[in-house]
Amino acid sequence: MSQTDGPIGPEDPLEVPRFAGRSTFARLPRRDEVERCDVAVAGIPFDSGVTYRPGARFGPHAIRNATRLLRSYHPGLDVHPFQAQQVADAGDIACNPFDLTEAISQIEAAAEELLGGADALLSLGGDHTIALPLLRVMHRRHGPVALLHFDAHLDTWDTYFGAAYTHGTPFRRAWEEGLLLEEHATHVGIRGPLFSPDDLVDDARFGFAIVTAMDLEEHGVRAAAEHIRARLGDAPVYVSVDIDVLDPAHAPGTGTPEAGGLTSRELLGILRGLAGMNIVGADIVEVAPAYDHAEMTCMAASHVAYELLGLFARRPAVRD
Ligand code: MN
Ligand code: MN
Repeated sequence: MSQTDGPIGPEDPLEVPRFAGRSTFARLPRRDEVERCDVAVAGIPFDSGVTYRPGARFGPHAIRNATRLLRSYHPGLDVHPFQAQQVADAGDIACNPFDLTEAISQIEAAAEELLGGADALLSLGGDHTIALPLLRVMHRRHGPVALLHFDAHLDTWDTYFGAAYTHGTPFRRAWEEGLLLEEHATHVGIRGPLFSPDDLVDDARFGFAIVTAMDLEEHGVRAAAEHIRARLGDAPVYVSVDIDVLDPAHAPGTGTPEAGGLTSRELLGILRGLAGMNIVGADIVEVAPAYDHAEMTCMAASHVAYELLGLFARRPAVRD
């Protein structure tokens, strides 16, 4: 494949039907088929860090399949995410399902290597444990980052059954390792029962501000996006989307569902409101297709991915 005329996009759906052809993300070229790559998309099929339902190891495959239907032009952001930048599918990062510490090291090393040949990385999980090694790599490249975290859960707990590395603890570890800009860290969509009020005290100590699901109901998408923009400022932003931020009515296929969540329209609307921000990396995690119905969760994840790719294309450096 030749990139002399600019980025190589998805297979033409008018030549090869969307339900046929390549199985890569959005039917884009593989990373090894293009010389230059702006955004690499990598699957991280790892779910050995979950505390409830397993199955997110099958997320990357199912999300990729749902991206077959993505079209080339994003009217909301007025951008062609696959023409404004070269997006390529880097395949899956192989990691040890029996040794969590080794898996974290493998994810870190693989992400580092991918970013040696790409400007940004969009990771498809996998459970939320994977955010920690990804944040370590971000820190090496950009210094501490502003974490924008969409989730029903805080994920700043300390340990489970004595284990420090789980899908409920990555952002406490990230804070301990100095990977986060405390004055910018933000959770969106938090709801549901906690272990104790101290969970919120700890979380605030790590610097997080919270836009709860109920805040969103009260103030709306536009106000939330404005609040988040002000909070993130010009800092390098890492976006981590746990699909359980959505209500189970919109995303049943996940490991720890909580009632009272966002609609997919609300989530896409908030993301769209972040155009022009300095987004340096992103992940979408906790898609567990075995609990999905009619690909609802995978469709939602594929559109979140598309929104994030639109935001990458609208970053200050790429836009000019
Ligand atoms: Mn969650
Ligand atoms: Mn999470």
